Amino acid sequence: MLVKRLFWLIQQLIPPLLLSYFYAAWKICRYEVGPLLVKQYNLPTIARIYTPLPTILIGTITIHYLRLYFLPSTQSVPPHDPALAIRSQLKIFECLAPSEAGTICRANNEPVDGMEDVPLVDRCWKGRCGGRWKPARTRHCSQCGVCRGGFDHHCPFFANCLTAAYIPTFLSLLLYTPPSVVLLSLPLYSPMYHRALAAYTLSHTSENIRTYWWDWTPSWIIAGGPVGRFVGGLILGWRELDRSEDDGGGVMRLGVGLMVGFGLILALVTAGLATSSISLLLNGNLTIDQGRHSAHSRTIASIQKLVKQNRSIPQKLEDDLLKFSDRAYFFVPFENHSSYGPEGQSEGTSREEVVDDHGDIPEVLRGDNESGNDGGVVRRGVIVPALPEERPYDLGRTRNWEIVMGPRWSWLLPWKALSPVLREDIFDWPISESVEKRLRGEAERRRRVLFGVEG
Ligand SMILES: [Zn+2]
Ligand SMILES: [Zn+2]
Repeated sequence: MLVKRLFWLIQQLIPPLLLSYFYAAWKICRYEVGPLLVKQYNLPTIARIYTPLPTILIGTITIHYLRLYFLPSTQSVPPHDPALAIRSQLKIFECLAPSEAGTICRANNEPVDGMEDVPLVDRCWKGRCGGRWKPARTRHCSQCGVCRGGFDHHCPFFANCLTAAYIPTFLSLLLYTPPSVVLLSLPLYSPMYHRALAAYTLSHTSENIRTYWWDWTPSWIIAGGPVGRFVGGLILGWRELDRSEDDGGGVMRLGVGLMVGFGLILALVTAGLATSSISLLLNGNLTIDQGRHSAHSRTIASIQKLVKQNRSIPQKLEDDLLKFSDRAYFFVPFENHSSYGPEGQSEGTSREEVVDDHGDIPEVLRGDNESGNDGGVVRRGVIVPALPEERPYDLGRTRNWEIVMGPRWSWLLPWKALSPVLREDIFDWPISESVEKRLRGEAERRRRVLFGVEG
């Protein structure tokens, strides 16, 4: 609980700190680096080109950042109940495994018999969800206390959830940052490097710094090891150097040096994140899928190890196995509605009529246990599990990309990146064509077995 509180507090601090950094960087670039190019390097043309850059580049980054930071708390939250097409069982959709549905029925003292092909949709009872529908690829964010469709991860950098709908904004932010940092601090790299060398030398010649830092043994520990000790010495030397000059170091002062250094770290981090995000997206994964997949593999490995050693498997591992499993179950409607029940029962029922009949099905889908002449349950389809090696939401690299980012490269235009490509579709992820074909084939096979259809 305390850790969670602390994490929450840090998260609240990061955005204002980052925004202050953006503002300070803009001010320095706009009012100090531009004039430096004219005064020190005598490059008036370059200075003229450079002058509007801080506003354009830092402005673009800030707008993207604010967009993610100020996303409303209801962003990507699914509706309380599934769409009519799902409630009426007219389309393929992800549902609970029959075993889970059975557990829920038993817990509610409801009959389990004949329920094996009645699909229950997943619902969330955590946080503020209160039984909200959990469509495919929806996850509950414990930080925000709600479920979000297309959940990718909760990002501490903007203290908000990242969902598939806002990946274009996020990715643009990640991709704009490194070139902006490099371009804006380019005039400073060489002089800053020389300044750092001078500061480092001074730190070793200064009596004070030698006594209180370099010869002081705890400096190896309190700064976090040799790298920290080096950075600490450098900062002390730099401060001393600034103090020795009338203008306090001017644009070469320690504060600007630290900002350039932080900018470089930011550029590296965002470039790394952009690369991994693009690779995940192309493979049809969201960050959470990757995390869950690793957790699942780790659990399997631990269980295998215990089995080999002939030791019993703790309940926790078994629970984890179930929790991290990405095995999906799909309700697959029968293609031809006239044959979904015992012979002749629903002859001539068109899809439209089915919708009308069940237009306001009150709770999940269980109201559909219409009795046929023989008192049995009418089956509109069957529940088919995805195969372990099947990846229903991997539609191939091009489609994976286009679903989230939109067609071609338009997402790179700053104003395009601000509006989500996925809107309501975020609660209705398409299934890979090959998986859908296999599911439908399997449903048809079962239908024939169930109703004894020949051929
Ligand atoms: Zn939830
Ligand atoms: Zn969140």
